[in-house]
Amino acid sequence: MTDPLANSYYAATAHRWRSAYEIGEELSFDVAVIGGGFTGQSAALACAERGFSVILIEREHVGFGASGRNGGQLIPGLRWSASELEGEFGRERAEALFNLCWRANPVKARIEKHGIDCDLKTGHLEAAWTPKDFGAMKREAEFLATRFAYQSHVIEKNNMGAHIASPLYHGGIHDPQGGHFHPLNYAIGLARAAEAAGVCIWEDQRARRITDTPDGLGVMTDRAHVAARYVIDATDSWVGDVEPDLGRFTVPIMNYNIATAPLANADALLPSDAAVADSRFVLNYFRLSADKRLIFGGGERYSQTPPRDIAAFVRPFMAEVFPQIADAKIDYGWGGAVAVTMNRLPHIGRRGNVFYAHGFSGHGALVTTLAGELIAEAMAGTAERFDVLANLPSKPFPGGKWLRQPLATLGLLYYAMKDKLG
Ligand SMILES: Cc1cc2nc3c(=O)[nH]c(=O)nc-3n(C[C@H](O)[C@H](O)[C@H](O)COP(=O)(O)OP(=O)(O)OC[C@H]3O[C@@H](n4cnc5c(N)ncnc54)[C@H](O)[C@@H]3O)c2cc1C
Repeated sequence: MTDPLANSYYAATAHRWRSAYEIGEELSFDVAVIGGGFTGQSAALACAERGFSVILIEREHVGFGASGRNGGQLIPGLRWSASELEGEFGRERAEALFNLCWRANPVKARIEKHGIDCDLKTGHLEAAWTPKDFGAMKREAEFLATRFAYQSHVIEKNNMGAHIASPLYHGGIHDPQGGHFHPLNYAIGLARAAEAAGVCIWEDQRARRITDTPDGLGVMTDRAHVAARYVIDATDSWVGDVEPDLGRFTVPIMNYNIATAPLANADALLPSDAAVADSRFVLNYFRLSADKRLIFGGGERYSQTPPRDIAAFVRPFMAEVFPQIADAKIDYGWGGAVAVTMNRLPHIGRRGNVFYAHGFSGHGALVTTLAGELIAEAMAGTAERFDVLANLPSKPFPGGKWLRQPLATLGLLYYAMKDKLG
């Protein structure tokens, strides 16, 4: 399948990668993973490291989905703040979630262990769109410091210039534990590490369904049946194609990014080189690439049809934040589907020997690697940490196959409108 949305800066600057796998006679493995994004690859690699024989089946190529086209922002935590988690689930569960999702940095650990070349930088800034948002950020930073001894830095409005050359923001929180990277090159680095650990990576191969017969589990693909003791469904936005029932838990929301031509004044735009996400409901998020382009994400579309001209669609959002580069040349424009759950928490779990993890709701660059590793840990017999995420509440979207997307869209439009009206 050629994808008109894949004209990305990342694809243009990706390291060379080609899977060495040739389909053999023997199509029986301990583990079959469906999907070659961060989740699937992290799970495949961690399973192989534990001694399982593993095949990873990917419909296109590794990093084809959200993992190879996202904003590259590594934001510690989940879409809920730590105080929201503690308010809802109590101290003990919040602490367990905090230790996994804030304190651990499995992406950095993988990059260091395998020497993955993916332009990793440190520092993430959450920028307040309104004074009220800044008040909430300050309270959260205080909560993190006192309850979890987690250090982030409150940046007052008059000091924001040290991070971002935009007059729009009312302050922010700088988190030195966050950062940014080239997501496709990270995905390719994971693929190389997985292959070196013995994973068979089968690209251009679509999984049709998971089979469950008295003889055991398996995956039916376009070309063959693969038998497996365990199956991991890591297809995220496409999960409903393989497992219709799991598809009820997410809706895909299209989101678009642009990359300018390299900018002479790039360092003046973002002097601390942190990745920035703002606090709007339909947020703006941006950062510098290694070759000094501004990579900017902004605007969501609730229709699955992409805008005819992605650069023209995203440019006004960029111009609002950075009027000084309103007319900058834009070299790339691309998009992808963000799989969103009802409550914005990921949907992770197991049904017998089928594991799944999806719906990271725009906050998946860090947590997907973790989710893959926890699946492997649970498969090897220790489910304590996996259960911390698997026990998060989840609800299917109402409306059945045809009404699910329109109903979810109505809800999202309501919040986007509220955001615009302030
Ligand atoms: C535009 C955009 C910007 C984003 N920005 C950020 C960000 O800055 N920070 C952040 O934390 N998160 C961000 N996200 C979210 C983040 O990218 C995702 O949460 C994460 O990449 C999901 O990884 P995954 O492996 O679960 O899914 P994916 O990367 O989507 O992988 C799923 C894979 O499954 C394959 N597949 C699907 N169906 C089949 C099948 N039937 N058979 C075989 N293979 C199949 C697909 O081809 C795909 O490669 C963004 C997402 C988008 C789209």
